[in-house]
Amino acid sequence: MSERKLLMIPGPIEFDPSVMEKMSQPTLSHVAPAFIESFGRALEMMREVWLAPSGQPFIVAGSGTLAMDMAGANLIEPNDKVLVISTGYFGERYAELLKRYGANVTFLQSEVGDVVPLETVEAELASGNYKLMTFTHVDTSTSVLVDAKAMGALAQKYNVLSILDGVCSVAGEEIRQEEWGIDVVVTASQKAVGVPPGLALVVASEKAMNVWKNRKTPVGNYYCDWSLWLPIMQAYEGRKPSYFATPPVNLIQALERSLELILEEGMDSRFLRHKRLAQQFRDEMSELGMTFIPKSEAVQANTLTAPYYPKDVNGGELLGGVGAAGVIIAGGLLPSHKTLYFRVGHMGIVSDEHIERTVSAIKTALK
Ligand code: PMP
Repeated sequence: MSERKLLMIPGPIEFDPSVMEKMSQPTLSHVAPAFIESFGRALEMMREVWLAPSGQPFIVAGSGTLAMDMAGANLIEPNDKVLVISTGYFGERYAELLKRYGANVTFLQSEVGDVVPLETVEAELASGNYKLMTFTHVDTSTSVLVDAKAMGALAQKYNVLSILDGVCSVAGEEIRQEEWGIDVVVTASQKAVGVPPGLALVVASEKAMNVWKNRKTPVGNYYCDWSLWLPIMQAYEGRKPSYFATPPVNLIQALERSLELILEEGMDSRFLRHKRLAQQFRDEMSELGMTFIPKSEAVQANTLTAPYYPKDVNGGELLGGVGAAGVIIAGGLLPSHKTLYFRVGHMGIVSDEHIERTVSAIKTALK
């Protein structure tokens, strides 16, 4: 049998064997004591990974889009003023999503490969009576990294709730949710969190929970409603059985394992490893003469890289060649630039060996 190819797309990624082992264990009852313990521990560890000691974690079956939806459904009421700061494809998604709940959205779009300047964001916050702002920490379509700390500070300064789309950043890029004053950080399991696709993960601040509690209108989405989910999270964390909708038992046990591994490594070491390997990969691509969608080093993500195809290289052929050399990478996603660039994910358990194998496969394909 030929060796399995290395999965280096920006999610799903390679997962640790001990995480995969949890996926193949016989499924427990969702009220079995061993599962209650796993669920409770996973919730507790989320606070540590998110660096949000007083945050309220939610673990729900679904993808990252559901995590975005959960935050929007619970915090938006019709006609609320919302600022969506977009650095690519997923910012547009958030604007569309929030409009479904009646949000009055102002959309700030960056130039391709850049962030929206902080002064522009600040001027907008100062001029409008915003309730909430969203930003994509790493937009997976452009590999642009937004300064989350600065965004959190602006949201605090103007007393605006903030939602960070961390689907491509949580557990890879540095996020200190509580210290940086970010109200909601949403993600999914299949990227740097290191669990197969299927979990929507959210941590909400006390302030966000209070805004939700004081809503004047009911939450316009049944499955997302925190009034149905909060008692479940509280029960499992209190090590009591509970039921609203059947939890994905094996995925949650896999999450418990992955969060353990993340915390064993330590958040600071983990952020640094992602930074170091991303730099290493970009240096190798630069040496091959490639340039990147992000316009400067300061806005380059550490969880993925988006290089332009070298001149005279056919994108489809390059991707095919890299695949034939044993590594799966991804094509472009941003509609206007789709055929001009490719994307390589390097997050989660990514190692020096993974980077070396990927670089070598790209070199082989270029030849
Ligand atoms: N936001 C970002 C930044 C993403 O990268 C993605 C997925 N690539 C999503 C949201 C949506 O997540 P999902 O595909 O899990 O619904």
